[in-house]
Amino acid sequence: MRFGWLSLTLCLVLVSSLVQAATWPREERVPGGIAIIKIPQQSEAPPQVFFNKQRVYTVKKNNQWYAWVGIPLNQKTGKAQVYWRTRDGDLPLPFQVKHKDYPVQELKVAPKHVNLSSEDLARVRKETPELRGAMNNFRPIVLPLPNLVQPTEGRKSSSFGFRRVFNGESRNPHSGLDIAAPQGTPIKAALPGRITAKNNYFFNGNTLVIDHGQGLTSLYCHMSRFADLKVGDEVEAGQLIGEVGTTGRSTGPHLHWTMSLNAARVNPSLFLKEANN
Ligand SMILES: [Zn+2]
Repeated sequence: MRFGWLSLTLCLVLVSSLVQAATWPREERVPGGIAIIKIPQQSEAPPQVFFNKQRVYTVKKNNQWYAWVGIPLNQKTGKAQVYWRTRDGDLPLPFQVKHKDYPVQELKVAPKHVNLSSEDLARVRKETPELRGAMNNFRPIVLPLPNLVQPTEGRKSSSFGFRRVFNGESRNPHSGLDIAAPQGTPIKAALPGRITAKNNYFFNGNTLVIDHGQGLTSLYCHMSRFADLKVGDEVEAGQLIGEVGTTGRSTGPHLHWTMSLNAARVNPSLFLKEANN
């Protein structure tokens, strides 16, 4: 009898793990998008795939390996290729990158966030490598990816890729998605992973980076406060990580949310179920 219950429990655990939905981004082969490339490798071990010299995220589905290739916003349109490492050398797997028009967005912010004092410039020069290092890191760990959780509810106030003009001056394109929400609205981890940066940065304000393994990372900015977490802590998808605020270069309370693959910032809405930009 006891054995019966045990088998039933084991079966239920097995079934629930089989039906658990997994994150699968929408493909869009444009700058700032994602190319999903089939890799003709049969072995169990993840294939080694590179794009622009960066190692690429790979995942097995129905006995087929795929690479999720992040296409940077500054990628030239036309022919591109990833390299698949084999015993016979690196084999190119070509794909096409199509053009995408991103609109211009004009914003007004505090002048100190556009024309930086020498002190602030020195601060930014110190902070940039720390953030980039956390975002661009490839950690060779394969984490199961349950359904992605949208980090906060609210109106999309600025889309990914917008060409930004601050106080009349052109700056870098928008590398994330902005969700406007009242100060104090909970912010949740989009996917499971490890916290690899937590700090107050000049442009990004109170910010966390979560590393989801294999070069997939996420960034959460402008928080009013952090949850009680530190660098090195592991978080679950949907776990509270902080609250919406307007710290750093910001025009009002919102979450700036970035997703990155192989050191390329990609459109976070490609990871959301409903098609919104
Ligand atoms: Zn933003």
